Amino acid sequence: MKRILVTGGAGFIGSHLCQRLLNDGHDVICLDNYFTGSKQNILPMLGHPMFELVRQDVTHPYFAEVDEVYNLACPASPVHYQYNPIKTIKTSVMGAINMLGLAKRVKARILQASTSEVYGDPTVHPQPEEYWGNVNPIGPRSCYDEGKRCAESLFMNYHVQNDVKIKIVRIFNTYGPNMNPNDGRVVSNFIVQALKGNDITIFGDGSQTRSFQYVDDLVEGMVRMMQTPDNFLGPVNIGNPNEFTMNELAETILELTGSSSKIVFQPLPPDDPRQRRPDISLAREALNGWEPKVQLREGLKNTIAYFEQLLKQLEE
Ligand code: NAD
Ligand code: UDP
Repeated sequence: MKRILVTGGAGFIGSHLCQRLLNDGHDVICLDNYFTGSKQNILPMLGHPMFELVRQDVTHPYFAEVDEVYNLACPASPVHYQYNPIKTIKTSVMGAINMLGLAKRVKARILQASTSEVYGDPTVHPQPEEYWGNVNPIGPRSCYDEGKRCAESLFMNYHVQNDVKIKIVRIFNTYGPNMNPNDGRVVSNFIVQALKGNDITIFGDGSQTRSFQYVDDLVEGMVRMMQTPDNFLGPVNIGNPNEFTMNELAETILELTGSSSKIVFQPLPPDDPRQRRPDISLAREALNGWEPKVQLREGLKNTIAYFEQLLKQLEE
């Protein structure tokens, strides 16, 4: 049994990770400021004797005796991370410094939730970990992309300079239950629009691609990454390489929900990457046989069921 700190634990991915760690018999501290997360996500864990909730901003130092830290605190949806871009950079950079300082002091292992966004609008396809990326350092996505790139650099330097036991995973687009209905990312937007009978908003002509990973596969990959030997640091891509256009995604969601919503086309936001697909050879090799198991239709069905129930509750 370990004591494990999960920053951003009340968010979409963090809540699944906290539940998984509790199920594995660990003592879990969830630190969150509720910027994009919610109490609703952690409600099922609140009475659990091994679960502790700390309402705090990761840009402030936090002290606790822990064996492991999963650093997830950061808004992940473009709508939310662009709402207060300076705060987004502070969350990534100061959050990383605070959590690395904690890990250094208590000799904890620490895992950074980095992102495929470090590859920017990639000129190499699919993206292997060796690719350095194509990021606009002053564009509207840069607060997130460059904040996450700086955090990776901080992690590497704390390892080299202070011997902190670090792990870096680069997460590709992930979806599933516990996404915020107002999250603004494409899967939740399309599902909520379809269920409400509203127009499905495709940005651009819908030919841009993403590779969507179901949250359970990601959590399994993160937990396995934390368990790798000390000398394996990453970065490791964690994603599902099956690639879809936004038009295909919209059609699939319309079919699975049986919705008669109309598809409408809206302007493509600036710096929106054209395509994205992970090369997961390293994850397959290093994470003890890890492989994404849940394919898009199955994962979407679970996610649609979650949103159906949530929207019903919100109506009551
Ligand atoms: P999310 O927005 O649902 O969760 C982020 C959580 O962090 C929320 O609970 C939020 O309240 C909390 N948070 C934000 N700023 C904070 C701060 N300053 N102090 C304390 N808590 C703070 O997003 P998510 O999809 O669950 O993403 C979790 C992590 O995974 C993020 O670091 C994100 O960058 C990374 N990631 C996610 C994806 C994806 O597709 N979901 C892809 C790549 C990387
Ligand atoms: N997108 C869309 N309609 C929406 C929301 C997003 O067509 O309502 C597009 C967006 O322009 C991008 C893709 O879907 O090309 C994925 O967007 P998301 O914000 O989910 O993730 P990211 O761009 O960070 O990969």
